[in-house]
Amino acid sequence: MIVSVASGKGGTGKTTVAVSLAISAAPIALVDSDVEEPNANILLRADHSTSRKASLPFPVIDMKKCDFCEKCSDFCAYNGIVVLKGLKVFAVPEICKSCGGCKIVCPQDAISEEPRDIGYIKFGERLGIQIVEGELNIGESSSTPLVRMLPDYFPSGRDVIVDCPPGAAHPTVESLRAADFVLLVTEPTPFGIHDLEEALVITDELNKKVGLVVNRADIGTSDIENLAIERNIPILMRIPFSTDIAEHYSRGHSPAEFSEYWREQFALLWQKIEEQVR
Ligand code: SF4
Ligand code: SF4
Repeated sequence: MIVSVASGKGGTGKTTVAVSLAISAAPIALVDSDVEEPNANILLRADHSTSRKASLPFPVIDMKKCDFCEKCSDFCAYNGIVVLKGLKVFAVPEICKSCGGCKIVCPQDAISEEPRDIGYIKFGERLGIQIVEGELNIGESSSTPLVRMLPDYFPSGRDVIVDCPPGAAHPTVESLRAADFVLLVTEPTPFGIHDLEEALVITDELNKKVGLVVNRADIGTSDIENLAIERNIPILMRIPFSTDIAEHYSRGHSPAEFSEYWREQFALLWQKIEEQVR
C-alpha cells in the first residue's frame, strides 16, 4: 500500500504526521519527495547509509559536425539550446528539460547526451523505517524530474508513506500518482480550507481515495467539518493544538517517537487508512 501525505500549503504539520504515522506503522518505508526542502529525516534522524546521484541526459554538441543549421534551436520549445551562428552551439542547463528532441532533429548527428547531476537520492534506516530522500541541487529550476525518479527507489516488500511537497503544483501531482490513498493534512482556517480545496481538485483529477487529518482542530472555524460532510470525505484524525506536540517539534522530535499516547493515536490512524483502502 502506498499512502501519500500531502497538504495544500506548507506549515500544516504534514511532515510531522508522515513521520509519526511511519513510526507507528513500522516496519515501513518513508519517502521524502519534498526534494527542494526535504525535512522528514530531521525528525527521523536516520544515518544516510548510502546515496546516489540523480542525473538527467543533457545535450552536448560536437562542433566539428555542426553546420549551424539552427534546426535544434527552432525545435526547442523551451529555448533551451542556443545557436551563435559561426561561433558556438550550446544547451542551457537551467532551461533544458532533457526531452532529447534536439538530438533527434539534428541532421548532422552533432548532438549526443551526457548525464547532468540534478541532486541526490539518499537512503537510511532507523526505528524500522527505511527512508528514501530526494534532494535537489541548489539552483535547479524544476524539482519534477527528481520527484518522478523516486518511485523507482520505493523499497519492495513494504508499505510506503510518501511525504509530498506542499502546494498543488507539478511536483505534488507527481508525488500523488502512485498513491493508493491520499492523506490530506489541513487546519481549520480560511487559508487551510482554500488550499484544501485546491488539493482536492488534484486528487479528484487523479481519482484518488482521500482522508483528512485536521491539525490544530480545536481552533479556527468549523468550515472544514462542513466541507468534509459535503464532499463525503472522512476525517480520520483530529489533532488539537498541543504545547506538548509543539515542544517535541521545536526539538526536532516526532510526537510518536516520544509519546506512547501519540504512538497509539497514529497506529489507529494507520488502521483507519487500511480500512479505507480495503
Ligand atoms: S541542429 Fe545540429 S547541426 Fe544544426 S545547429 Fe543544431 S547542433 Fe548544429
Ligand atoms: S533536450 Fe529538449 S529541452 Fe533540452 S535543449 Fe534539447 S530540445 Fe531543448
